[in-house]
Amino acid sequence: MIVTLKHKIENITAVGKRIAPALKKLGIVTAEDLLNYWPFRYEDWSRVKNIAEVEAGTNATVKGQIELVQNKRSQWKKRLVTEAIISDETGSIKAIWFHQPYLVRNLHPGEHIFLSGKAEDKNGELQFVHPNYEKITRYKKETTHTARIVPIYSLTKNLTEKQLRYVMSQIIGLAQYIKDWLPAEIIKKNNLAPLSAAVRQIHFPDNQQALNTALERIKFDELFMVQTRAQMAKQLLAQSRAKAIEFKEKETKKFVDSLPFFLTKAQKISGWEIIRDLGKDRPMNRLLEGDVGSGKTIVACLAILNTALNGFQTAYMAPTEILARQHYENISKLFAGWGIKIGLLTSADKRANVAFENDKDIYELITNGELDLIIGTHALIQSKVNFNKLSLVIIDEQHRFGVEQRKQLKQKNNDGTLPHLLSMTATPIPRSLALTVYGDLDLSVINELPIGRKEILTEIVAPERRPDKYKFVMEQIKNGRQVFVICPLIDPSDKLGVKAVKDEYEKLDKKIFPDLKIGLMHGKLKSGEKEKVMAEFLENETKILVSTPVVEVGIDIQNATIMMIESAERFGLAQLHQFRGRVGRSQEQSYCFLMTESNDINSIRRLQTLAQCKNGFDLAEKDLEFRGPGEVYGIRQSGYNDQLKVAKLTDYIVIKKSKSAVEEILARDPALTNYPSIKERLKKFETDVHWE
Ligand code: ADP
Ligand code: MG
Repeated sequence: MIVTLKHKIENITAVGKRIAPALKKLGIVTAEDLLNYWPFRYEDWSRVKNIAEVEAGTNATVKGQIELVQNKRSQWKKRLVTEAIISDETGSIKAIWFHQPYLVRNLHPGEHIFLSGKAEDKNGELQFVHPNYEKITRYKKETTHTARIVPIYSLTKNLTEKQLRYVMSQIIGLAQYIKDWLPAEIIKKNNLAPLSAAVRQIHFPDNQQALNTALERIKFDELFMVQTRAQMAKQLLAQSRAKAIEFKEKETKKFVDSLPFFLTKAQKISGWEIIRDLGKDRPMNRLLEGDVGSGKTIVACLAILNTALNGFQTAYMAPTEILARQHYENISKLFAGWGIKIGLLTSADKRANVAFENDKDIYELITNGELDLIIGTHALIQSKVNFNKLSLVIIDEQHRFGVEQRKQLKQKNNDGTLPHLLSMTATPIPRSLALTVYGDLDLSVINELPIGRKEILTEIVAPERRPDKYKFVMEQIKNGRQVFVICPLIDPSDKLGVKAVKDEYEKLDKKIFPDLKIGLMHGKLKSGEKEKVMAEFLENETKILVSTPVVEVGIDIQNATIMMIESAERFGLAQLHQFRGRVGRSQEQSYCFLMTESNDINSIRRLQTLAQCKNGFDLAEKDLEFRGPGEVYGIRQSGYNDQLKVAKLTDYIVIKKSKSAVEEILARDPALTNYPSIKERLKKFETDVHWE
């Protein structure tokens, strides 16, 4: 049988009936899909040692002849053990495997094999426990599982690393037929490996350098796609129309003067950048980035005000119902006396500051254009809501907006114009990275907090100091303040020993603070219940709110001064910084307690970074250094990681190279007419990646 790239995997002999369904679960349908299933890490077993060189407690690969293979019952637990003795010119070593009696049929004395594994000291004798093994035969020149840099794939049920590697090794020859979609000129100019070679090396690298070269090619491809997509989206947008929103200077001034505080310089600059964009008849596509508490809402309000005064509608989308409700209440207050008609629309809650008869009617108010501003969750634009003259969409703390959603919005306006789009995020991605991540967006940054904010005192709290902190909590509450307690998960059977929110609630409610009223908030509550819990906390009826991370974004409770985070080491720095931003919103001194039982040096260092660093942007830079190219601060939240499998945001050089390659090509050929292979690749990329 001649196998081709398009061959269905179940028809490939090496795959077999049992493995095919598992591969399908991984989204692998054809041989080509299989080749495009990259390892997520590697183990380097390439250095083959003499048996005499092997040391206890270290990893090693050895090559030798099988002296003896036998099955035994272990004395203690009566487990079935397969034992083998392997020798080379320098000595011999024992290898054992549990529960694999069939090995005696596979391995025979006299045969030569490789063993890779960890050598352990057993009563003064060295042995390999469960090493990987691979026979050396006349027919097989190259090893797959040992004596090389070994690829490790993510798996699914009924599939082992060994099986997947074996299947891969059987079809890897097909890699030579992979057509390179990248124009030869780009490959040459950037010194890239051909795709077929890169694919081969990414699965079975000859050595570390060959692997690096392959990875660089794959990274280049990914980043090239991300950036082509962003640039083309930008082009497309430049051809679309939006309603120009005239700047109402006098009213804007009046509104700003009516605020109980002065805008920060950064707020003013951002506000102006947005207003200037709105004035154009091209759709704005702007990201407003600002640390928690930096005052993004007010800046958004400047845009809303101008839009409303021009007679157009704004849709304001919040990530959760709780937040939508809070925005509704806060923004209604800010616009008191301005005659701006505001509606709240979530599945659980429909309100407006104009009269309407029943829930059904609010849709009518929107359709008739009687509401200037509609606040809600994502459902706002996906559901049956029809706007009358939607000209501005604001997305608060949410993943980026895809091309698809944009299209949906377009259909919502009967004159074919697109609304202006303002996304807001508290994820402080360093500017250079943001421009790559959000290549199609313009960026406004609020890089300062309002003056007069007190620094939030952040402290790592070890178990023995917990009682002190509870005492302190009690004092603060006696002074009228309130407290957040955040726990990671809600399931009490959680095996990792993570504080479950319900357990924590019980403990605080019954044992520690029996006289206080304590609230419990988690994602499984019905939305009416959530609202009640939130309302009680807002009204200072409950003194402590025990919650899962649902309060993470946006919630503004000015009276809360303590943020206590249980098992703090379980959270990412970005998330911890977000939690901390929930307090310190008034003139009172606020505190953040990072409760941890961990002794792990890296966890503690990470928490120390947070304790020392108060500015989200600095924290982002630090985290970048700290964690290295692994997980960049906050990126998970941005949804960016969905697009990149291999490339990292710290791959500056490849980012730069791919960026200029994209710019060069699009400058010459904006529609990619002469580059059908790039176009095709782009289409596949669009369907592979989940765009939010
Ligand atoms: P975020 O950027 O996290 O969304 P918010 O918009 O919720 O922040 O603002 C946080 C708090 O700061 C709000 O209570 C808001 O009224 C207040 N605030 C906003 N701008 C200023 C300012 N320039 N001076 C003082 N307080 C401000
Ligand atoms: Mg906010």
